[in-house]
Amino acid sequence: MTDDTGDDRPLPDGGTDVGADTDAGDVALDPWGSSAVDDYRKLFEEFGIESFDDVIGEVPAPHYLMRRGVIFGHRDYRPVAEAMRNDEPFAALSGFMPTGDPHIGHKLVFDELIWHQQQGGDVYGLIADLEAHAARGLSWDEIDEHAESYLLSLLALGFDPEDGEIYRQSTNREVQDLAFELGTKANFSELGAIYDFDGETEVSYMQSVVTQMADILYPQVGDPKPTVIPVGPDQDPHMRLARDLAGRMRYFGVTEAYASFELENDERELVARAYEALSGDESDGDSDVRCAEAADWLAEESPDSTALWDAVETLRAGGKEPLRPRVRVLDRNATEAAFEALVEAVDGEKRVYDGHVDCFELDREAAEELAREIEVENGGYGFLPPSSVYHRFMTGLTGGKMSSSVPASHISLLDDPEEGYDKVMAATTGGRETAEKQRELGGKPDDCPVYELYAYLLAEADDDFAAEVYEECATGERLCGGCKEQAAELMAAFLEEHQEKREEARELLADLGVDLDGDRR
Ligand code: SF4
Repeated sequence: MTDDTGDDRPLPDGGTDVGADTDAGDVALDPWGSSAVDDYRKLFEEFGIESFDDVIGEVPAPHYLMRRGVIFGHRDYRPVAEAMRNDEPFAALSGFMPTGDPHIGHKLVFDELIWHQQQGGDVYGLIADLEAHAARGLSWDEIDEHAESYLLSLLALGFDPEDGEIYRQSTNREVQDLAFELGTKANFSELGAIYDFDGETEVSYMQSVVTQMADILYPQVGDPKPTVIPVGPDQDPHMRLARDLAGRMRYFGVTEAYASFELENDERELVARAYEALSGDESDGDSDVRCAEAADWLAEESPDSTALWDAVETLRAGGKEPLRPRVRVLDRNATEAAFEALVEAVDGEKRVYDGHVDCFELDREAAEELAREIEVENGGYGFLPPSSVYHRFMTGLTGGKMSSSVPASHISLLDDPEEGYDKVMAATTGGRETAEKQRELGGKPDDCPVYELYAYLLAEADDDFAAEVYEECATGERLCGGCKEQAAELMAAFLEEHQEKREEARELLADLGVDLDGDRR
């Protein structure tokens, strides 16, 4: 996951922080910079992250973090939700940099993984030890110690390691091999542009990027399936790259076409419109609409645009060739044998060209499925673009952002219960200056780190309880002293129970064979 404590660290170029707040009002997403996000809505507009509200209706029995808007955004979560609904295979994976003790921010992601596992997913939790070494400069001894601690908490919270998989980046040979392979599809300029790398950036940063790309695609090796990566929004640049690389690794691509030539996406819509208008009732596929006719129709019917004139020109060049809708499978990186196998496997009428095959009796979905199947059978990966869900960063208990370098700002899963109690009692609140004012005006739960503790953690799945705290606060019925005491008690109880479960998990962890005292130096 994302270290949502957001500690600032020097960037690889030794320069200044290019993180979230370089320009006022600007959002930047920097996986190794500051991870404060001022305005979540901007992430939708500027980066194309979709609001989770738009997809929550498709999720069977959504998790409370989804219901409460803690998970606020996603990329392409629909295929995962659909697989869940239909009892089809899907996966979830996230990674943790073992830079310190696991804390309540990491718990969010642990819980997301565990929930996806309980929904029937194939779930992976990984220790990003190579990244911690490369990007944070941690020694291998420190890494081993923290890695163990993260895994104990993951297990204590309910991850089932028999059903899922836990691994470290450094010892997973398959991930390393895949990382190397993915490295053949990305170049230095591209990484430079995405991550602000420059000539001074250490090579190991790039290695940790391709390793993360491999982590993200690893659940699909041998068996492509919808996969969700739960992370903080600072990891979105990684997601965009992973989605691109998944496509670049494909042997085949599927598009729709109307004639032997290629169309751009916006041209295709126009050609489709012309075809529909002209083929009229004879939509049995045998209409005789010629390219040139469609060009004339478009030139007259549609409002002016560049795409339109491109389409007209393309169609004119097609002359007398009849338009016939078809699904086209393009050979992107296929071996000759794979392409031949594909052509062979296409049912019904087909036409084979150099570099693509047109299928007249397959719909798009069937063609995609077939292409993926043939690809995997012939040595390709057939990756689906991985999906992601994004959670909000927790506010620090002392206000501002939660930072692992400021112990009072967060609660570590290893804090003594009394210490956790005291930290909650010392937290800033959204309360008014006096009890009297609070009774009169109500508190501000939306600006209160203590309310966040209830919503993100302490109320667990009990929505009524979370709503009650909110209501009582906002109406002035609840005063901060008592509210904090209640939260502090719940926190202490949570920590106590969690730590007991961590102890119980030791044996389980030892049996997993994750190497936790390596001899790396
Ligand atoms: Fe926060 Fe509770 Fe005070 Fe409301 S009453 S502002 S939720 S501490």
